[in-house]
Amino acid sequence: MTNDAPIFDPVAFKLTDKQIYLTELARKIGQEHLAPRAAQYDRAAEFPSENYDDMFKAGLMGICVPEKNGGHGADLLTYAMTAAELGRYCGATALTWNMHVSSTLWTGDLTDDLEMTEEQRRTHEERRAIHYKRIVEDGAIYSQPFSEGGAAAAGKVAWGTHAVPTDSNGGGWIVNGKKIFASLSGHANYYGILCSEVREGEKPSRRNSVYVAVPADADGVSVTGEWDPMGMRGTVSRTLHFKDVFVPEEAMLMPRGIYYAAASQWPHMFLTLCPAYMGLTQAAYDFTVKYLRGEYLGLPPVKRRMYPTKQMAVAKMKIMLEQTKALFYQTLSEARANPDKDQILRAWVTQYTVMENASEMSQLAIRTCGGQSMLKSLPLERIFRDSRCGALMLPWTAEICLDNLGRGALYERGEKDE
Ligand SMILES: Cc1cc2nc3c(=O)[nH]c(=O)nc-3n(C[C@H](O)[C@H](O)[C@H](O)COP(=O)(O)OP(=O)(O)OC[C@H]3O[C@@H](n4cnc5c(N)ncnc54)[C@H](O)[C@@H]3O)c2cc1C
Repeated sequence: MTNDAPIFDPVAFKLTDKQIYLTELARKIGQEHLAPRAAQYDRAAEFPSENYDDMFKAGLMGICVPEKNGGHGADLLTYAMTAAELGRYCGATALTWNMHVSSTLWTGDLTDDLEMTEEQRRTHEERRAIHYKRIVEDGAIYSQPFSEGGAAAAGKVAWGTHAVPTDSNGGGWIVNGKKIFASLSGHANYYGILCSEVREGEKPSRRNSVYVAVPADADGVSVTGEWDPMGMRGTVSRTLHFKDVFVPEEAMLMPRGIYYAAASQWPHMFLTLCPAYMGLTQAAYDFTVKYLRGEYLGLPPVKRRMYPTKQMAVAKMKIMLEQTKALFYQTLSEARANPDKDQILRAWVTQYTVMENASEMSQLAIRTCGGQSMLKSLPLERIFRDSRCGALMLPWTAEICLDNLGRGALYERGEKDE
């Protein structure tokens, strides 16, 4: 086992005691458990269940569950730095853990910042306590399958998955629809899905999004399709179908209308996908330095660091790494409700930078280290494949970030050219 330095140095980045504790814990679990298993889960395209057992035992599954509900009460920045440490050792574990943790962060810290009626806040408090108890005490795993293969996951149209209110069985919803790329399919205990509420005489709209946790074993839930992708293979992101699935009222992860408010007022919530890729960026750099110094464990101690071209490449990688870290830290530390325009633009810059730099770093690492580094016996080729997936994640794909940035920088709200 190696003993890697923290991605975010506690003194340089002024980490709190909680941040130091959680990031150290993640790094320890990553080095001891995730790294040795990563190749096997990747090769088999299997969900990393053993990693989840270890993370549950370590208390990491409730990282963003409020302290009063038995969790660590981590905020977005604390979660993100911890997830980056895990992503360094297994991208697929960190990415799937993101889906689970977001289900608690979004319903916790983030929702608390939004306007709600007293009644909504009280009911939300009661309902989320049920979800949090399952996670902290029973080890329940939640996922976040939103994508449907149309424009809904990009935030442009209403969800094609529908929820019809019902008074039967004590009240709740009847859900019908389909979610694609549903990471943790067949492995999560609850699928946290977004649906359009069906209202008599009204067209489905994003304002009426309903966010519910569907039990994986509920009648009418099925998983289909193969999962044999290029990268992030351990995420097992297959297709989920919901056919007349009943879910009770208490399954609601947010009160009616609050997801829409969160997405509009707390846009940094969509940055939760990038910590896994921050970790991969660090991993590509770490590998290159160790390899060129002839210090990669298990390989002959051949030094390659004396070539000026290698030194130039590593200089470029170090610059890219520090730029990525600085932006990541700055943007996640300023996340809050109702950010100003510059903060929103910076959030898109950060998503774009982390996702694209992860991929660029890993391809540079392979070119610099040479042919042996792309063998499947070493982690770099997996990091290369995993890191390419970051730019594809909706709602903020690399392309959509560019679109948003270009328009956002040149136009003020309501401005038109004609
Ligand atoms: C490893 C992995 C795990 C995933 N896990 C999950 C998960 O757990 N939950 C989940 O919800 N999703 C998940 N996704 C899905 C992901 O977020 C995207 O929904 C999916 O990659 C979209 O597939 P697509 O590019 O074919 O989609 P399309 O919607 O067909 O988009 C194609 C391209 O068009 C662009 N595009 C789409 N809409 C617009 C627009 N309005 N304006 C401009 N350009 C646009 C996109 O940038 C993209 O490049 C996962 C994806 C991967 C790769």
